[in-house]
Amino acid sequence: MFAVISDIHSNLEALEAVLADIKKRKIKDIVCLGDIVGYGPNPRECVDLIRKRCRVSIMGNHDHAVLYEPANFNTPAERACYWTRGELEREPKAELRGERWRFLGRLPVRYREGDVLLVHASPRRPMNEYLFPEDVFTNPQKVTANFERLDARICFSGHTHQPGIFLDDPYFDPPGELPDRPFYEIEEERTIVNVGSVGQPRDKDPRASYVVAHRNHNESFDSGTESIVAAALSCSVAQLEFVRVEYDLEETARKICKIDELDNLLGERLFDGR
Ligand code: ZN
Repeated sequence: MFAVISDIHSNLEALEAVLADIKKRKIKDIVCLGDIVGYGPNPRECVDLIRKRCRVSIMGNHDHAVLYEPANFNTPAERACYWTRGELEREPKAELRGERWRFLGRLPVRYREGDVLLVHASPRRPMNEYLFPEDVFTNPQKVTANFERLDARICFSGHTHQPGIFLDDPYFDPPGELPDRPFYEIEEERTIVNVGSVGQPRDKDPRASYVVAHRNHNESFDSGTESIVAAALSCSVAQLEFVRVEYDLEETARKICKIDELDNLLGERLFDGR
């Protein structure tokens, strides 16, 4: 069993709530698909939690923008990006400051383990391509092209902040419409799984989103044995569980309001999940 989280966006309250939920389930293996920072008020704390608690982390476009330059960002996102960079720079402890920058700078853009691929955005363009649910109707070639580039059985991604499952038909299944929600049985077919967003969901459900991947053999062995933590992600993922967690979004929105460089809209949108 392992947990997949993504798009934290410096939302500490959401991240802490999700990590507590994961701990309650006794899951020790956590992977993160990027966008640790950007938009929210607690970049330092979120970077620290992710580097301590996640075995693997992927580079998101917002992490990349904070390190280098924001490209094609709207004004609130760009201002948040520069403010985030300043926050990381203003850390008074030089060693800690360096550790955080080094951690961000070394994030891989894709990570493969057995039959599982981790990316922030899409198999074809791992850091920047938006694979939207509606693409299965409006741009099916985009989805098909991504399956053609997929060299693993399951790809976990984030980026759009909209959870659900892509199949190569092409087809999209949002968690609310999955037949045996919130569980999704993995068949032989390949899937691209969007785990949604911890810190800024955009599927009209304001609760933090993440996914638990269950394997098809001996889950008891999994959770009871420390050594399994180091095992591959693969080992036949059999079932995906889409999890939603409530958190204190009023507090996050309050913090955003107090910081001039963070647009109030970034707090308001949390209430609507948009
Ligand atoms: Zn994001």
